[in-house]
Amino acid sequence: MWMDAVILSIGDELVRGQTVDTNGAWLSVELAKLGIGTLYHKTVGDGQSHITQAIREAAAAGSLVMVTGGLGPTDDDLTRQGLAEALGVPLVFHEESLEAISAIFARRNRPMPEQNRIQAMYPQGGEVIANSCGTAPGIKAKLDGATVYVTPGVPHEMVAMFDHSIRGEVAESHGGLEVILTEKINTFGLGESTVGQKLGDLTDRDRNPLVGTTVGGGIVSVRIACQFADAKTADQQLRRTINDVEQRLGDFVFGRGDMSLGQALVDLLCRKALTISTAESCTGGLLGQMITDVPGASNVYAGGWVTYTDKMKTSQLGVDPGLIANHGAVSEAVACAMAKGALERSGSDISIGVTGIAGPGGGSANKPVGTVWVAMVAGCVGENSTIKSAAQLLNLAGHRTAIRDRAAKYALQMIRLHLMGGNEMS
Ligand code: AMP
Ligand code: MG
Repeated sequence: MWMDAVILSIGDELVRGQTVDTNGAWLSVELAKLGIGTLYHKTVGDGQSHITQAIREAAAAGSLVMVTGGLGPTDDDLTRQGLAEALGVPLVFHEESLEAISAIFARRNRPMPEQNRIQAMYPQGGEVIANSCGTAPGIKAKLDGATVYVTPGVPHEMVAMFDHSIRGEVAESHGGLEVILTEKINTFGLGESTVGQKLGDLTDRDRNPLVGTTVGGGIVSVRIACQFADAKTADQQLRRTINDVEQRLGDFVFGRGDMSLGQALVDLLCRKALTISTAESCTGGLLGQMITDVPGASNVYAGGWVTYTDKMKTSQLGVDPGLIANHGAVSEAVACAMAKGALERSGSDISIGVTGIAGPGGGSANKPVGTVWVAMVAGCVGENSTIKSAAQLLNLAGHRTAIRDRAAKYALQMIRLHLMGGNEMS
């Protein structure tokens, strides 16, 4: 439905994967703020014919074409030549640009290399856009009814040029008719296809707001985007869809936007004025890190233990060696004993124990790599002990890093669900 802008990123380093295209993402976000949707992004190497072809296709597809990169002084920077070829015009000289470029070199007390003269050339009939941060001026031209802007590839130069010289113009000529709003809702504990099933008709491709899912690090995010003629309708429709999504996914939703699981848990513990401690084996401190990554974690995190060997589990957390001998270090009994030991020693309200096999070695037929026990205990220790506990067996897939990461996240999620009332302990 949003067919307006096309974004072209030019450079051999981009197509080779040596540099990640951050310009395209930045421009899409900024254009969306102006009510301009992006039809597609294309990354093209430093070959003139490919650049020419990409610009022609983009101008045929969209009404606004944003090109970044390839405006440097060297032989491999061919965007201005590619644009001139697409327009069917020669490059002409721009005296003011040469003066501006010469002035930059004069300020640095260096002679201007002859090669930099090319940066003062632009396609006949186009317009030059001044560059306040570097030597390469930008270019504006009309092609096939579309407006084409070319900016330098250096991200901060591109941003400055867009902000100073392009944003206002584009808002007036292309934007403003529609408002685009987006939101991201993060879930943990369900696979992407299950999330998709639960969302059902909300993910229809012709729906506005449009709902889609992405997955990363075991976190399935639901992305919502809508486009309406006015801000009030857009806001109402976005909120309605957010509510629908959150209702269908329930407690698996832990936050919106950039919210992490650690942040969600710390916020919840703060609201309930509860403290937590950790007893980790296979996660080696990852769980503590995810909690302490959050500013203000000191209000809720008492501290933790990393006990890798059996001996440390016993000496630091008081785990009965008999339990380890009978059940193995990776067992419900040991996970519970680790958590209990941490609860007693830290004086926190809740403790969590994690023990598992992260691999690649160490697995067996009945305890394969990825077997992880997570146990949670809560309550008061002492004579009138009211300790309650719950444990969960995880069978995690993937390599060592993924297993450790998911184990820590499931531990955070287990406490979250418990605090939200959905995870009973006995
Ligand atoms: P150029 O304008 O092609 O000479 O690019 C100058 C520098 O900007 C390159 O060395 C890249 O490191 C960087 N660059 C170019 N295009 C992009 C892009 N799309 N995203 C991020 N960095 C870029
Ligand atoms: Mg380049």
